[in-house]
Amino acid sequence: MKEKLYTIPLNDAMNENDECPFCFLERKLLQKTMDFVLGDSSSYMESDMRDKTDQAGFCRVHTKMMFDYGNSLGNGLILQTHLKKVQEELRQQMKGFTPSGKGGLFKKITGKKSEGGNPVAEWAAKRDRSCFICDQLKEEFACYVATFFFMYKKDEAFRTKAKECKGFCIPHFGVLMEEAEKELSGAQLTDFVASMDQVMEQNLQRIQEELTWFVDKFDYRNKDADWGNSRDALQRTMQKLHGGYPADPVYRHK
Ligand SMILES: [Zn+2]
Ligand SMILES: [Zn+2]
Repeated sequence: MKEKLYTIPLNDAMNENDECPFCFLERKLLQKTMDFVLGDSSSYMESDMRDKTDQAGFCRVHTKMMFDYGNSLGNGLILQTHLKKVQEELRQQMKGFTPSGKGGLFKKITGKKSEGGNPVAEWAAKRDRSCFICDQLKEEFACYVATFFFMYKKDEAFRTKAKECKGFCIPHFGVLMEEAEKELSGAQLTDFVASMDQVMEQNLQRIQEELTWFVDKFDYRNKDADWGNSRDALQRTMQKLHGGYPADPVYRHK
């Protein structure tokens, strides 16, 4: 069964008791993907891989990660052929682009966009969003979410683990609610939503208290008081709100 492949990493993530098990999985996936794209396997030397990265390109966040990762030659080779592809596309876009020059003043006054939008701007925005790494992550991440529900349905111990975890970041909680409606039904769906609501309520309150003590620690009267769980409350609050690990060091080529 395909889900079996994902069961062990998912259980590991649940056992980690992190602020969000899906962030934990996502970080692992991202590091694995970075290693695949730029690491020692030199996947970029294979023509089918290069066709894919030439076509998809990379978003701004992952381009920065690629730079920080190192392997300048690998980066250079990947971007060399990708740039060629972008040059061709831009040439085509500009060939077919006739600026209308109409509605400039109208737009300024009303704030409305001219009808149809600007095709070059649309192409550029689409190019900026398109990303090989994002695509890879999306695909594997979906398998983990499916496995979460597969386990939740069949495994009592897993259900307990889910109900006793530290909750999820807001973006991943959204994913969980959306998928729950597809994966569960009837009483099990109602119970799941109620349990996860409670988990989120309790844990956002916990984070709120930890962050409050973090702030209060700056008061000179609390200088010698114990940090408790609040020393890293800032990064954990950031994670709860937006996902990811703001305090992580840069991920580099080993
Ligand atoms: Zn998360
Ligand atoms: Zn990306």
